[in-house]
Amino acid sequence: MEKAEIGLIGLAVMGSNLALNIAEKGNRIAVFNRSPDKTDTFYAEAGDLQGKLVPCKSLEEFVEAIRPPRPVIIMVKAGDPVDELIATLRDYLSPGDIIIDAGNANFRDTIRRFEGLEDSGLTFIGMGVSGGEEGARHGPSIMVGGTEESWKRVEPVLTSIAAKFKDDPCVAWLGENGAGHFVKTIHNGIEYADMQMIAEIYGILRDGLGMSAAECSEIFGKWNEGRLNSYLIEISEAVLKANDPISGKPMVDLIVDAAGQKGTGKWSAIEAQNMGVPATAIEAAVAARSLSSFKTQREAAEKILGLPGQGAINPTDKAAFIADLEMALLAGKIGAYAQGFAVMAEASKEFGWSLPMPVIAKIWRAGCIIRSQFLDEITSAFTAMPDAANLIVTPAFATMVKDTDGPLRRVVSAAVMSGLPVPALASALGYFDSYRRGRGTANLIQAQRDFFGAHGFDRLDGVDKHHGPWGSGLADFQNA
Ligand code: NAP
Repeated sequence: MEKAEIGLIGLAVMGSNLALNIAEKGNRIAVFNRSPDKTDTFYAEAGDLQGKLVPCKSLEEFVEAIRPPRPVIIMVKAGDPVDELIATLRDYLSPGDIIIDAGNANFRDTIRRFEGLEDSGLTFIGMGVSGGEEGARHGPSIMVGGTEESWKRVEPVLTSIAAKFKDDPCVAWLGENGAGHFVKTIHNGIEYADMQMIAEIYGILRDGLGMSAAECSEIFGKWNEGRLNSYLIEISEAVLKANDPISGKPMVDLIVDAAGQKGTGKWSAIEAQNMGVPATAIEAAVAARSLSSFKTQREAAEKILGLPGQGAINPTDKAAFIADLEMALLAGKIGAYAQGFAVMAEASKEFGWSLPMPVIAKIWRAGCIIRSQFLDEITSAFTAMPDAANLIVTPAFATMVKDTDGPLRRVVSAAVMSGLPVPALASALGYFDSYRRGRGTANLIQAQRDFFGAHGFDRLDGVDKHHGPWGSGLADFQNA
C-alpha cells in the first residue's frame, strides 16, 4: 500500500480536524488514537476523505504506514501525556523520524523534550497551532520550532494545510527548539489583552452609556468595517446579537461574568517578567480574568464598598465619544502588540532564535484568533524596520499612537471618573506615557536604593561619584 506522507496521534477535537484538513489537501495520513473506538468513529465519519486516511489500531501498524523519515504529529492532552507518548514512540520510531508536538505546550517543556531526544537520533518539533477547531479543520496559523532540516521535511504538508492571507500561507519556521511554542504563547498573551480591552469597551457601552446588547452589537459591527476589522470584533458583534432560545433575552446577559483560563496568558506574563520586558496589558488581562473568577467576593465587596464614581457617563456629544471608544481600543491594541513583540525580541536574543518579527506578524494575519487587518500593518512596519526597538517607534505606528492619544486619554479618564474598570486600557496609556518620557522618576528610586542598600547610581553629569551624601543610611539620618 502507498505509504502515508505523515502520521497523527490523538483524534480528539483538534487532532481529528487537523487530520481531515491534511487529508483534504491531498496528503495521505496515518492516524492513531489511544482508545481505538475513536479511530473507528473518526474513519467512519470521514466520508470522501477516507481514501486519504490510514486508520491504525496499533503503533506498529501506524509507524509502518508512514514514509520515512516519518513526521508524527501528536495532538494529545497537554502535559504528562505528551511525555508518556514520546517515551513510548522512542521504541517504535527510527533515527531521522520527527515527533511534532502540535498541542499547547510550555516552550520550556518543548526545549526539554527537544534536548531529551538528541541522543536518540529522533528530532522534535514544537508546533504552535492557532485557530481552534475551525482553524484546525480549514486552515490554522502554524508556528514551527525545530531544526531547519526537520522543517524542510514537513514544510510541504504544513504549507498545504495552513490558512492563507491572500495567497500567503500562514506557516513559518521560526527557529530551533521552543521557538514555535514560545511565539504561540505570546500570541495567546496578546489574545488575552485584545479580548480584555474589547470587554472593557463593552463595559463602558453597557454600564457607562446604558446600551443594550443589541446596540453594542451594532457598534462592534460598524467598527469591524473600519480600523478595528478583526475576528475578535466580528465574533463580539455576533455574540452580542444572539438571543437565548429559552428566555428570548440576549444570551450575553445570561452568562456568568467569571472568565476561565488555561494558562498560556499566564505563561506570557511570567516570561515577560522573567526577561524584564514590560507587558502590562497582558499582565492586566491575566489579572482581570483571575479577578473575574472571584465572583462571590466581588458581590460581597459591592455590598460593603458600593460602586465608586458617577456611574453613568453623560458625554456632551455621544457620537463623538463612541468614535473615541473606537480609537481608544485601537490605541490599546497597539500597546498590547508592541509589548508582545518586545517580549519576543528579547526572548529571541536570550534563546538564540533570531525570531523574524515581520514573518510572525505575517503568519498571524489569517487562521488564528487574533487575525486582523491590523496585523498587515504590523507586517509592513516590521518589514520596513525589522530591528525597530519597539513597534511604536516605527513611523506608521508612531503616527497612530499620536493620533489615538487624545481618544485613549479621554476614554480612560471618563471610565475612571465613572468607576468603570479599564485595567488593560489604562495600562496601555501608562505604558505609552512612560515609554515616551526621556526623563522619568526612577532617579528617586535609585537614590532610595542607595540610601538603604548602598546600591549606587549613575550620574547624569558623568561625575565619578556613585553614592549620595546620606552618610551611612537610615541610622545616620535618624540620628541627625
Ligand atoms: P484534549 O482533550 O486536550 O486531549 C484528548 C486527546 O488526548 C485524546 O485523543 C486522548 O486519547 C489523548 N490522550 C490523553 N492522554 C493520553 C495519553 N497518556 N496517551 C495517549 N493519548 C492520550 O484534546 P484537544 O482539545 O483536541 O487538544 C489537543 C491539544 O491541542 C492540547 O494540547 C490543547 O491544549 C491544544 N489546543 C486545543 C485547542 C482547542 O480549541 N481545543 C486549540 C489550540 C490548541 P483518548 O481518546 O484515548 O482519551
